[in-house]
Amino acid sequence: MSTLLTISNVSRTFQVSQGLFARKKTLHAVNGIDLTVEKGEVLGIVGESGCGKSTLAKMVLGLLPATSGDIALEGADMRGLDRKAVARRIQPVFQDPYSSLNPRKTIASIVAFPLLVHGFGNGEARRDKALAILDKVGLPKRFADRYPNQLSGGQRQRVAIARALVMEPELVVCDEPTSALDVSVQSQILNLLMDLRRDLGLTYVFISHNLAVVEHIATRVAVMYLGRVVELADTATLFKAPRHPYTKALLQSVLTPEPGRGIPETGLGLAFPDPLNPPAGCAFHPRCPNAFATCRTVTPRTVKDPAGLVACHLHDPQIAQAAAA
Ligand code: SF4
Ligand code: MG
Repeated sequence: MSTLLTISNVSRTFQVSQGLFARKKTLHAVNGIDLTVEKGEVLGIVGESGCGKSTLAKMVLGLLPATSGDIALEGADMRGLDRKAVARRIQPVFQDPYSSLNPRKTIASIVAFPLLVHGFGNGEARRDKALAILDKVGLPKRFADRYPNQLSGGQRQRVAIARALVMEPELVVCDEPTSALDVSVQSQILNLLMDLRRDLGLTYVFISHNLAVVEHIATRVAVMYLGRVVELADTATLFKAPRHPYTKALLQSVLTPEPGRGIPETGLGLAFPDPLNPPAGCAFHPRCPNAFATCRTVTPRTVKDPAGLVACHLHDPQIAQAAAA
């Protein structure tokens, strides 16, 4: 495999004010992330809402500049590439197919719109291409002249996927693409995305708060917590042998049979911390069942090994040695 996208020490901050006269505070939405996306893979990114995954997605799409760090597309710094060039190669599919489709345009013209923007062919050629891609996402020709409000949620998400694919991108960034859909429709859309990846040789960054969804589609998974990647591993390893206590807690909460039956012992009992006032040391320590003194003051290093990476003192050989000495 070769590397399509390289994310190097990327951070993004926002100045946030809480109230009219309050002093502005710095929100570290994404905090020093290193990741690669390999050609043909599905890199899952999971974490609770507010962990920075959508901010990361926007930076990868070139919709939001990084505050620091570099993102390179096949070695070329994205800052040096113009918006249109990036859009030809990287396309998004967002969560909400209701608000992302123009209600006054027909399905065919919505799907053909990127072709118009990029100056592809004449009207007829663009419509032909739109119809061909609509067919690929499982929408028959008769849908072409309908309007979004005449379609179901799943059908609208198929339209959003068709619009993303019409430019023949290499990378599709899917940000919670099934979260707004009924459970029965979710799996249809996931299966469609998997078929399209196989047929068209696509690469995905697939963002979700739902581990079960990510397990279904991803080849590798990065787990984010408060702007950082705390664990990365191939999907089978991550689900069989999670290392970070946060990953374990996320898995545990997926496995809890009925939500009403109480929080499991290793579950995420406490609420997600305020990102404007992140806990010192390991940001996960107030919720971590394994936390010890060092965790409250020292930020864990990210340790890389053949299994992936993990940022937890329990898995840092230097800390373990110091504790044993
Ligand atoms: Fe828990 Fe400490 Fe590891 Fe953080 S560093 S996840 S608090 S054990
Ligand atoms: Mg989000």
